[in-house]
Amino acid sequence: MERDKVCRNCRRVIEKGSECPNCGSKALTTFWRGYVLLLNPEKSEIASKMGISTPGKYALRISR
Ligand SMILES: [Zn+2]
Repeated sequence: MERDKVCRNCRRVIEKGSECPNCGSKALTTFWRGYVLLLNPEKSEIASKMGISTPGKYALRISR
């Protein structure tokens, strides 16, 4: 689980590929901790705080 890559730009957890399907960024990192699964980001307070509008798995913290 912790080996998945995360987009540094939008924090989307990427299960396969080397490009973020969300924002198209190629700046990925494996140094992250914890995640939230956002199924209805439009109804989620966390999602709006994080600026997320696409459903998916997002890392809570990126350490670099
Ligand atoms: Zn992204």
